[in-house]
Amino acid sequence: MPELDVVIVGAGLAGLRSLWSLRRAGFRVQVLEASDEIGGVWNHNRYPGARCDVESYDYSYSFSPELEQEWRWSERYPTQPEILRYINHVADRFDLRRNVTLNTRVSEARYDEGTCQWAVTAEDGRRWTARFLLLCLGQLAAPKLPDYPGQADFAGEVITSAMWPKRPVSFAGKRVGIIGTGSSGMQMTPVIAETAAQVTVFQRTANYSVPAANAPLTDDEDRAVKADYAARRELTRNSPTGLGFVPEGKRALDVPEAERNAAFERNYHRLGFGFALTYADILLDAGANRAASDFLRAKIAERVGDPALAAKVLPTTHGFGTRRPTVDSGYFEALRRPNVELVDIRATPIERFDAQGVVTGGQHRDLDMVIFATGFDAVTGSLLKPLIVGRGGLTLRQKWAQGPVTQLGVATAGFPNMFMVAGPGSPSVLSNVMVSIEEHAEWFTGLFSALRDGGIAEIEAMPEAEAEWTAHVQEKAAQTLYMTADSFYNGGEVAGKPRVFMPYSGGVRAYRRKLIECAERGYAGFTLVAAPATAEVGDGR
Ligand code: NAP
Repeated sequence: MPELDVVIVGAGLAGLRSLWSLRRAGFRVQVLEASDEIGGVWNHNRYPGARCDVESYDYSYSFSPELEQEWRWSERYPTQPEILRYINHVADRFDLRRNVTLNTRVSEARYDEGTCQWAVTAEDGRRWTARFLLLCLGQLAAPKLPDYPGQADFAGEVITSAMWPKRPVSFAGKRVGIIGTGSSGMQMTPVIAETAAQVTVFQRTANYSVPAANAPLTDDEDRAVKADYAARRELTRNSPTGLGFVPEGKRALDVPEAERNAAFERNYHRLGFGFALTYADILLDAGANRAASDFLRAKIAERVGDPALAAKVLPTTHGFGTRRPTVDSGYFEALRRPNVELVDIRATPIERFDAQGVVTGGQHRDLDMVIFATGFDAVTGSLLKPLIVGRGGLTLRQKWAQGPVTQLGVATAGFPNMFMVAGPGSPSVLSNVMVSIEEHAEWFTGLFSALRDGGIAEIEAMPEAEAEWTAHVQEKAAQTLYMTADSFYNGGEVAGKPRVFMPYSGGVRAYRRKLIECAERGYAGFTLVAAPATAEVGDGR
């Protein structure tokens, strides 16, 4: 019998939530975490201005009504330090730390077909065995860094947004270069500009952004949410992306222009990210998308004021939402500051770095600090970092060489007893990931309990079922506009990565129905093998 029932890799929101429910169901669980702290991306992304663009009340666990009532969020959109405090509070409140081993980077996981168990090895050689391997490695957790000529020669400070140091970082009197204008770059720019001598923002692709409409949460608002938190949860779980916004039933272009613009205007000022759900067809119909894109371009032009600057920052390469839009707090206004300059590196590419700074379009720019806010090898990057070896020596990297293939976004054939939370083939990065994490954590708890009760030692996705699901994921994406742009949704922005749509775009509610149906049909699409006498799943209660 293995030492453990489940090894969870990663102590972020997914790993901790899975630990809570699996342990409660009586499983012997150990969470292995590479870092010296829990929290996952919220531990690593400590850059100034880091904030979630899902509302606090919805970006929180729903498993404990007591926790929901006790915790008091301070702002509509929570900051990184507040989310990290929340995660630590949950870990203490539910005594989760006793099953978390920190400073443990998993380098290899290998399936033993003889014993139907996983052997998990850390970089330093420590080893665990478990019936199930649950990967909670995050969707946006493998940073992607540029490789410009001379980059290593730069003598100033170099910081990556997703690996921000814990020590205080001062910008005072410094000339700071920020490379990347996604959520991270846009969030940090206004904050850094407040104290830096000079900020140079290097923009490769202009993107759409909606103002956060952030505000402190009043006691009245807090009481109102907590008086019927269950109703709010019900709404989020049943809204298309888990954000609680349900689009109007009408198609955008069926609505007279003035009425449509009034609806856009209302949502622009209060929904943040939910602006995309003003109409259900914004990401389905090119005309509807153009209307939303035009509206936002006009807003951006207003916010930056200066037409020359507007010409640089107005998105032209893609439609709104086809790449992840951002939610910002004062980004475009910050670009107007005298100490901020935006360099369009499509027009004047970064040619090289040297000890003093960078050269763009033949012009040298002196810098004291460079910040890479250049994004992630999304969705599959973190899953493919450790060497995962399944049946017959097949590695996950080999299996997914042409893109991820999954049965229902939870497992892949050839890797029995291995599952992943909020990975490819599930709503993942297209959803309020908290909803997706909780859905999976509960479903896996039900699955592992059923296997234990049924004396099953091995479960494996069927190749024909995963082929069908993966084709369905692609079909759903083809009904949208998502493949019209290269993005971290489809791998198109990472050199050499297969360009396939990775998350499931059918929405969290439709996805939940698929999971429920699979379970109700005795875990349809999976092969279950009964345990030999020596291989039953333990009960650690
Ligand atoms: P991102 O959205 O992928 O943005 C990366 C930026 O770096 C893009 O502007 C990209 O340009 C640029 N870039 C990449 N490689 C480059 C290179 N070699 N040279 C110059 N520029 C380069 O990454 P992110 O801002 O870290 O955000 C990723 C995701 O994390 C977000 O979309 C969101 O899902 C999550 N996140 C959320 C929050 C939040 O909740 N508010 C905050 C931060 C992050 P191109 O566009 O041309 O590729």
